[in-house]
Amino acid sequence: MNQPSPLTPKGIKYQRVLLKISGEALMGDQGFGIKPEVISLVADEIVEAASLGCDVAVVVGGGNIFRGVQNSTKLGMDRAAADYVGMLATIMNSLILQETVKSKGMQVRVMSAIGMDRIAEPYIRLKAVRHLEKGRVVIFAGGTGNPFFSTDTTSALRAAEIGADVIMMAKNGVDGVYDKDPKLCPDAVKFDTLTYDDVLMKDLKVMDQTAVTLCKETRLPILVFDFNRHRAITKILQGEKIGTYIGPLS
Ligand code: UDP
Repeated sequence: MNQPSPLTPKGIKYQRVLLKISGEALMGDQGFGIKPEVISLVADEIVEAASLGCDVAVVVGGGNIFRGVQNSTKLGMDRAAADYVGMLATIMNSLILQETVKSKGMQVRVMSAIGMDRIAEPYIRLKAVRHLEKGRVVIFAGGTGNPFFSTDTTSALRAAEIGADVIMMAKNGVDGVYDKDPKLCPDAVKFDTLTYDDVLMKDLKVMDQTAVTLCKETRLPILVFDFNRHRAITKILQGEKIGTYIGPLS
């Protein structure tokens, strides 16, 4: 299995990308919330990628504020109710990221899967595509709008809907997919490429299984990379082989 090598007419490897950033990545070394320096760096990377002519869509998680499953147990909430709070957390993160990207001179829109008409546009697929065609960064907020799903699945879903060429899964301090947790096992081996079935059958911790299955069905490649690496997205767009590529066999 090979990664696609030719560059697009704009000299970049992927014309349209969906970047997934977990909420956890935004909190840096804090236990909660958003670290200003981190979100500023995230915005820099997004702005640089968009400036190269790449259509950049973003899905932000909410785990730095609220996760449905864990909190439903702790707080005695229905899982569905807790998941809706988790989706609201993604909207807060998205609005903050929007402002940070905007402050760096880039046009950006938040589109929410949950009605939020005072503060965000509703998610409408063709409108999202139009924004991207106009060079605006689009942030998909509110997850899928449904409980029992995750922002990984949101990424797979929205990427397929907008015709993205790749999902870029930003990891925090891990530069790809390993056979074991590299933070715990020094002998862990990194994979350069994997198939969807490798990920599903070995239960590798890339994204949740629903999301991987959706990528498999839509033949959407996933690139797992370390977001802490300086200008990682730009380097990937310029053709550097970074991280682990997960894709169809041929
Ligand atoms: N969530 C949901 N449906 C979705 C997306 C997210 O119910 O389509 C909820 C779920 O409770 C989840 C929370 O939002 O725990 C935050 O999303 P996620 O855990 O995916 O964020 P991340 O781990 O990427 O920060």
